[in-house]
Amino acid sequence: MTRIMVVDGSAVTRQVLARSLLSEIPNAEVIACENAKEALEQLEQGRFELITTALMLPDQDGLTLCRAIRNSRSHHYTPVIVVSGDADSRLLREGFEAGVTDYFDKSKGYKAFGAFIRSFIQRNTGMMGSILFAEDSATAATVISKTLERHGLKVTHVTNAEAALHKLEEAEQQGNDVANTYDLVITDFYLQGKMTGGDLLHAIRARLHHSQQEMPVLVLTSNDDQNTQVEVFHAGANDFVTKPIVEEILLARVRALLLIRHQYTALKQQTETMRWIAATDSLTGTRSKRYLVDNGEDYLRNPDNQSVWGLLIDIDFFKQINDTLGHITGDHVLADLGDQLNASFSDSMTVRFGGEEFCVLIPHTTADKMLERAEQLRMDVKTLKPGGVDITISLGLISSADYPDINLTRFLSQADKALYAAKERGRNRGCVFTPDGILDIPQA
Ligand code: GH3
Ligand code: MG
Ligand code: MG
Ligand code: MG
Repeated sequence: MTRIMVVDGSAVTRQVLARSLLSEIPNAEVIACENAKEALEQLEQGRFELITTALMLPDQDGLTLCRAIRNSRSHHYTPVIVVSGDADSRLLREGFEAGVTDYFDKSKGYKAFGAFIRSFIQRNTGMMGSILFAEDSATAATVISKTLERHGLKVTHVTNAEAALHKLEEAEQQGNDVANTYDLVITDFYLQGKMTGGDLLHAIRARLHHSQQEMPVLVLTSNDDQNTQVEVFHAGANDFVTKPIVEEILLARVRALLLIRHQYTALKQQTETMRWIAATDSLTGTRSKRYLVDNGEDYLRNPDNQSVWGLLIDIDFFKQINDTLGHITGDHVLADLGDQLNASFSDSMTVRFGGEEFCVLIPHTTADKMLERAEQLRMDVKTLKPGGVDITISLGLISSADYPDINLTRFLSQADKALYAAKERGRNRGCVFTPDGILDIPQA
C-alpha cells in the first residue's frame, strides 16, 4: 500500500488529483489536505511515501511546508513534489534549498499527473530489499542497522567476513527463493577474524562469481585512508562510504546500489521469460522444435540417458478433423494431446515436431518397457479422446541401443520411416525401426 498526501487549497483540484492517482496506482491510499496546518497534523499521525503540494496554500507557502517536512523526524526523507501551473522561477531559485524533490507542471493535464507520479514512484522505490551487513563494532552495527531498517530495509547482521560468506553460500544453495537472497552486501573494511572486508569482497567476485550488478557491495572505510579506498575498488567494490557515517550519504549510496540490483533482477527475469517462450510451443505446452534443435543432440548422446528412445507420434487423418469439425476443434485436440504427452512423458523431452506431429526423446529405457509405454499411449489416446474427438495416432520408434553413434537428424529420420510404415500398414499402430527391418509393435 502506497500512502500519498495531496495538499491543495482547491477542493476540485484535490479531488481531480486524487482520482488521477488512484487510476494510475490502484493500491494507493490518497489523503487530501486543504492547507499546511492540516497536512502537518496528518504527517504526525501516520507515514506517507509521497507528498504533493501546491505552491500557494491558503495558510502558507508550499515551500515553507516543504521545509517543515524536511525538518520533521518522521518525513525527513519523504519525496515532496510541487504541483503548480506556473513554472515559477522561485522554484528554481528556492526549491532545491527548501527540499523539493521534483516538480510537475499542471498545464500538462491531470492524466499526465498520474503517470508522472507512478513513474516517480517506480524510479524511487530503490529502498526495498535485503542487506547482508558485516560489521564487528557492535555500536556501529546497531546504529547502521537501525538506520537501514527505519527505511524499510531488511538487515542481516554478522560480525565477521567468514560468517558473511557462509550466509551468501547458503543463500546460493537456496536458489532463486526471493526470501533467502540478499540484494546488497555492506561490509566494514576492517573485520576481526582471518578475513578482512577486502577478502570478503574478493571471495564474492572471484569465488562466488557475483558481478557488481548481481551482488553490489558497499564498503565502509575510514575517512583518511585513501590507499584503502583505492584497494577497495580494485577488489571489486561498487562504492564506499567513510566512517563516521553520514546518514544521508549512506542512504543515497544504498539507494543507488539497490536500484542497480533491482534492474539486474528484472532483466534476468525478463531473459528467463523470453527463453521459456522460445523453448515452449504455445498451443500444446510441449517443447518447441527450436528447443529440440538446441538440446536434442546432447540429450541423445548423454551417457546418463542411455538407452534413449525416439518416439514420433502423428495424428491419423487429422486433416479430416479440421475439415469436418473446424480448425478450432483441431486446436483443442492438439492442446489436449500435448497435455497428455507432457503428463505421460514427464521424464522425457516432449516436443511439438510439426503441425500434428510430436516427438518424444525418452531416456534410459529398455525395449520391453518402451513398447509397453507406446502401446499404452496408443490406447489412452483412444479412450481419453483429446478435445472430445475420437482420434487415433500412429507411432514410429527407434532406440539408441541399436544405433549407438547416430546423430539426432538420422535418428529421427529413421523413426519417421517407422512412422510412415505404421501409416502404410493401416494407421492406429506403432512400428520400430531396427537393424532387422521395420517391425510392428505387438498390440494389446
Ligand atoms: P495422416 O493420417 O496421413 O497423418 O493424415 P493427416 O490428415 O493427419 O495428415 P496431413 O499431413 O495430410 O494433414 C495434417 C493436417 O494438420 C493439415 C493441417 O492443416 C493440420 N494442422 C497442422 N497444424 C495445425 C494446427 O496448429 N492446428 C490445426 N487445427 N490443424 C493443424
Ligand atoms: Mg500427416
Ligand atoms: Mg497426421
Ligand atoms: Mg503429420
